[in-house]
Amino acid sequence: MDYSILRKSMVREQLIPRGIIDEKILEVFSKVERHKFVPEEFKANAYADHPLPIGENQTISQPYIVALMTECLNLNDVGKVLEIGTGSGYQSAILAELVREVYTIERFSVLAQKAGVLFDELGYTNIKMRTGDGTLGWQEESPFDRIIVTAAALEIPLPLVEQLKEGGRLIIPLGGSFSQILTVVEKKKGEIESSPVCGCVFVPLVGKYGQEAS
Ligand code: SAM
Repeated sequence: MDYSILRKSMVREQLIPRGIIDEKILEVFSKVERHKFVPEEFKANAYADHPLPIGENQTISQPYIVALMTECLNLNDVGKVLEIGTGSGYQSAILAELVREVYTIERFSVLAQKAGVLFDELGYTNIKMRTGDGTLGWQEESPFDRIIVTAAALEIPLPLVEQLKEGGRLIIPLGGSFSQILTVVEKKKGEIESSPVCGCVFVPLVGKYGQEAS
């Protein structure tokens, strides 16, 4: 199967028509091999317009949602990004192509291990990963220029607000189990300002400052 053709069609048919216009982002989505981040049985569907299972009842998000969240982060000249919810590692790899350092946290060690092996194989030396409760953030490495939460929360975990740099930006799906509002949060003079982006559906953010495990 020629994945590079599927990748180009994904960019041309799913991202550009929906308004993803940042050239650097489009270039990165044309480059990063999404099929390497999905389980063997789903590789043929890796570039399709929907999420896919990755094990542990978790998912790799739809390509457009990954692109939209990346674009909303406004990554020009950004140094340090914290991602909560490594999952397959695809979003981390996209970020690692665009910023200096990516810190990513996953609660399932099985997923974290798989992603870690891939990061090594693909040569992403600027991704640092840990297994644990990402709602606590990564205090020792804070503050972060940007924070991306790739699981749904009822409210923004307080440690993440504290670990966001002044002038920084955070993106998070906010809402209950069935649908959420993708929300961009900016920190200005210690206060946060939230703006809704669109409706979305994510798996829950489970942790001390998130939801309870079901
Ligand atoms: N960014 C991922 C990717 O590119 O594949 C998609 C992530 S998936 C939609 C959400 C992930 O968040 C799951 O892997 C889930 O285990 C993880 N997660 C949920 N709560 C978490 C928490 N408190 N800390 C870290 N990871 C968490």
